[in-house]
Amino acid sequence: MSIIDQQKQFPEGMKPLGNKPFRFSCHSGISCFLNCCRNVDMILYPYDIIRLKAALKIDSEQFMRKHTRLIKGDNPYFPTVMLQLMDDEAKSCPFLDSNGCSVYQDRPSACRTYPLERAVDRKPERGRPKEFYFLTNHSYCKGHLEDKEYIVKEWLRDQRISDYNSMNDIFAELDTVFRDNPWQGEGSGGPKQQLAFMVCYDIDRFRAFAASNKLLSQFRLPKDQKRRINVDDGELLKFGFEWLKLILIGRSSLIANPTSRKTF
Ligand code: SF4
Ligand code: SF4
Repeated sequence: MSIIDQQKQFPEGMKPLGNKPFRFSCHSGISCFLNCCRNVDMILYPYDIIRLKAALKIDSEQFMRKHTRLIKGDNPYFPTVMLQLMDDEAKSCPFLDSNGCSVYQDRPSACRTYPLERAVDRKPERGRPKEFYFLTNHSYCKGHLEDKEYIVKEWLRDQRISDYNSMNDIFAELDTVFRDNPWQGEGSGGPKQQLAFMVCYDIDRFRAFAASNKLLSQFRLPKDQKRRINVDDGELLKFGFEWLKLILIGRSSLIANPTSRKTF
């Protein structure tokens, strides 16, 4: 189930794990080691791309060109970005080398979460959005036969996934805006969608765009936040998401700076 699902709809036959322990371990001595890094359909989210392009020391435009392909996914009004696999017989992940994952510290959300899947109920009857985790069970994965036990909380801590989940949750909110076809008469591929795509998937170009349009100075932002945005792509991405909400639906946490000239 996608992280951007809106409804509490559990896949058939799957029950959320809750606090129930599960057995799993993945290590280089296991017979299936790295089998899951081949022939895999993997969606990449905006924060995945920021982390991967930094790990590879390339810019976001190069990353997108070299390592991704676009498909029409479950959002009819915004493309889904997939990892482009190698053209070898095994269809390997491009980041797989003879020692394993060459981007391990910055591997994408899907690789961190596995063997769990995450679903978020964004509109529970009461309270804040609620997350659920399910245990996947692929027959090729022998990690389930190992003795080591985890509960979900331990697995998430072990895999250092919290930054990914919070960024993906913010993106999911924006994705609901895209699902309402906010491009109006422009259609897909029009100027607004191009802007949205740049913010989400080409952070280096967005940084240059923000600088040339003096975008930060158009809003009342605490000095500390401005400083973080200037040095941290994740902070710039969060700002960009809020800016997109403002230009697409006129609602966002950003407050206009009355003394600044609006350039966009
Ligand atoms: S145990 Fe599962 S996750 Fe680990 S290498 Fe094998 S298939 Fe991949
Ligand atoms: S990013 Fe790393 S862990 Fe994920 S599929 Fe590629 S090689 Fe495997």
